[in-house]
Amino acid sequence: MDTLFYLPDPELCACSEVQLQGQEAKHAARVLRKKVGDIIHLANGMGCKATGEISAISKQSVSITITEKEAKARPVIQKVLGFGVIKKRDRFEFAIEKAVELGATTICLFDAERSERTRINKDRIDAIVQSAFKQSGRWWMPEIVTKNSLSDVLLDFADHEVIMAHEKKEVSANDFNISKSALLLVGPEGGFSQNEVETVENAGGRIVSLGEHRLRAETAVMALLSQFLFTR
Ligand code: SAM
Repeated sequence: MDTLFYLPDPELCACSEVQLQGQEAKHAARVLRKKVGDIIHLANGMGCKATGEISAISKQSVSITITEKEAKARPVIQKVLGFGVIKKRDRFEFAIEKAVELGATTICLFDAERSERTRINKDRIDAIVQSAFKQSGRWWMPEIVTKNSLSDVLLDFADHEVIMAHEKKEVSANDFNISKSALLLVGPEGGFSQNEVETVENAGGRIVSLGEHRLRAETAVMALLSQFLFTR
């Protein structure tokens, strides 16, 4: 798949001429050494993708004449990954990258009761999400939100179906069918507390097993999201 460049212009699908600026322009001109006349593929992260021909290149920008464009509506069923912040930064960032590839429409990072308090570097997270968005060829950019507790997450997504992955749930094949937007919960290294499990149960949420093995949090993110790959 050709390299996708991110141009967050809500009017991308209505434009005939656009300009890439900043890092994306530098990447096109200096790293990939794109030239005038080359074809370039753009996505605005808001459901529009466009193809164009480079008409001019300067130090700061790349001008593009749009030749084709396509729009895709936002998915009706939103898949919100609620992820208890984990301490190990490389594993945490790996999980977020995989969540983008596996179709999470929102990634909600929260301080679970057993999360070890770590500062979230929002700029780094945004860069990882943008890179995974381009690499995976998505149409809609996932939103990143942060919350202070599971209760706050449940309040924010009160109209979603709640599914909590919990390693203490008896191992049984689960019904992962969802008929509306869902909040998919994975705990931190220390897992969810009994209080958090009961909070989800009292809110009418489902507790599900991801098999008999204890998965690392980042593995559980992938295993849980993979159950919903074909949900539309
Ligand atoms: N504290 C737990 C323990 O030591 O047994 C392990 C927690 S696990 C590292 C992190 C998260 O992954 C859990 O909170 C849960 O959401 C998910 N998880 C891991 N294995 C799972 C399984 N077999 N079934 C369901 N969820 C699982």
